[in-house]
Amino acid sequence: MTTELLFRHDAYLKTASARVVGVHERGIELDRTIFYPLGGGQAGDAGALVRANGERIPIADTRKGEAIDTLVHVPAPGAPRPEVGETLGLEIDWARRYALMRLHTALHVMSCVVVAPVTGGNIAPEKARLDFDIEMSLLDAARIERETNLLIARGVATETVWITDAELDARPELVKTMSVQPPRGAGRVRLLSIPGIDLQPCGGTHVANIAEIGGIHVLRIRSEGRRNRRVEIALTV
Ligand SMILES: [Zn+2]
Repeated sequence: MTTELLFRHDAYLKTASARVVGVHERGIELDRTIFYPLGGGQAGDAGALVRANGERIPIADTRKGEAIDTLVHVPAPGAPRPEVGETLGLEIDWARRYALMRLHTALHVMSCVVVAPVTGGNIAPEKARLDFDIEMSLLDAARIERETNLLIARGVATETVWITDAELDARPELVKTMSVQPPRGAGRVRLLSIPGIDLQPCGGTHVANIAEIGGIHVLRIRSEGRRNRRVEIALTV
């Protein structure tokens, strides 16, 4: 049974309720969820599932399930297990997720300042990075910071856009990330649009307006192998 992925349509849902459809070794499956699973470089959500009697089941991580559009809520060690059919309250660790959303969206903006193929990326609650296939001499931390923050200051609203696989095939320039090809086979691909700044396939969670990022600073730039230059950033506030 697939999980209805509520965060795809509203990344700002902090609570919801859902029914347990599976409990197994890897964790708990629900009929719908607001928990984002590890993927596309973004960390999985943490939080809690709350039983009708108030008992809390702390969730340490969220992962994709074996079938498409299923996911598994991974309980913290020693957490109680619910029964199949039980209705639970869902609460995500919002401070953590919101930091992930702001940093994730910041990477979209930064990828328009550093114009080079993206070879990898990662988003954790405290910091995020992109790896580029670029000469070290072309990366200047002060310039990246200044230009990224100038774009953030435009305060543009983000939009989710869906296109067909065929439309994406006709516009290969949309795919900046060489290491992560957008998922195919579902017939359509989700894009994040930051009008006037960026447009690229992405299944992650983003802020509604880039002004919410506030600002970024570059923590460090270093070489990671022959072709990889890693730019690590954090939020300024
Ligand atoms: Zn994204």
